[in-house]
Amino acid sequence: MPRIADKHLKKAGFLMQLVLLLFLFDFSSLMAQKVEIRGIYGNPKPFWDQEISLRELGVNAVFVHSGAIDQQMIAQVRSEGLMIFAEFATLNGKNYVEDHPEAWAVNDKGHRVEAATWFMGVCPTEPGFRKYRMTQLQKLLDAYDLDGVWMDYVHWHAQFEDPQPILPETCFNDYCLEKFSRDTGVVIPRGTTEQKAHFILSNHNDTWRHWRCQVIIEWAREFKEVLRQKKPEALLGLFHCPWQDDEFDHAIRRVLGLDFDRLAEVIDVFSPMVYHGRMERSSQWVADNVAWYGQRLSVSGDAEPRPRLWPIVQAYNDPHIISSEEFRTVLKGGLSGGASGVMMFTSYAVAEDPKKVAVMKEVYRGLAAE
Ligand SMILES: [Zn+2]
Repeated sequence: MPRIADKHLKKAGFLMQLVLLLFLFDFSSLMAQKVEIRGIYGNPKPFWDQEISLRELGVNAVFVHSGAIDQQMIAQVRSEGLMIFAEFATLNGKNYVEDHPEAWAVNDKGHRVEAATWFMGVCPTEPGFRKYRMTQLQKLLDAYDLDGVWMDYVHWHAQFEDPQPILPETCFNDYCLEKFSRDTGVVIPRGTTEQKAHFILSNHNDTWRHWRCQVIIEWAREFKEVLRQKKPEALLGLFHCPWQDDEFDHAIRRVLGLDFDRLAEVIDVFSPMVYHGRMERSSQWVADNVAWYGQRLSVSGDAEPRPRLWPIVQAYNDPHIISSEEFRTVLKGGLSGGASGVMMFTSYAVAEDPKKVAVMKEVYRGLAAE
């Protein structure tokens, strides 16, 4: 009897294993991700100066500040068969507000905001500034053959890239107060700017937060419309704060004004800036956080359905030296959670360190061969 029972158990065990294997096989094929972007962020020049071909390193895309782009760069990028995406500084503008004080953001005390370390958020509803940026965007698309534009610094005045973030209440200048009132129907009593801000935050806090997110969405929608007119196949990306919803008392929506649910209707590709060193997080945090974003944005490894997730990780030695091992961890971590692309900050930080170049080549060529 025991022998027969044993035999049955063995058979059952074998079947269980088979089912498990089939399940794992199916599961792994579902999880198989197509990595479409093996990117660098920054000018490719430091590689070219060393006569290193980006193609040879497995790179297939370059993300570069719009102001650094010229025809020679475009020609060289194209000669290597690479894609090129322009980073576009959107709401950061210290020089702009100094020349155009009417666009200076105002806090809940009625004062012009101070720069949040190096970031100076311009009032996003001041019409002159908006026109200025949209004209810049149109000129950029007229001048260069780009695969996409990545909106950067898209949030209300704040600083999230430092370990201790700066999260002020803005913007209560007349442009914002008027537009808020017009858009929402909230009647703001007469008084000082501080009194008006107090009235809004005390009585219409939810409406205010929602409206601020809407202002950011409107910027994204207008960018999308310019792209549609100038280059319909170009992608609209967003470099953004990598916090999860509940961090810093929900500051990503409450203060920065980012509503991912609504942004996902406009943005083609989300690029959370998972700078673990700058933010004093572990290198493992990158994979965990990108996985969270994969869930949050319901991304797919495939091109459809949108949106896609192409994080940007840190290679740059600040405030501590990022070792090549650490760089490997964050570069691979950037591809967790259904992300279908990755890039690093910055091209210079990699090019100056032969060990980091070797890591990038190993990871990217491995992905290219898959
Ligand atoms: Zn304003």
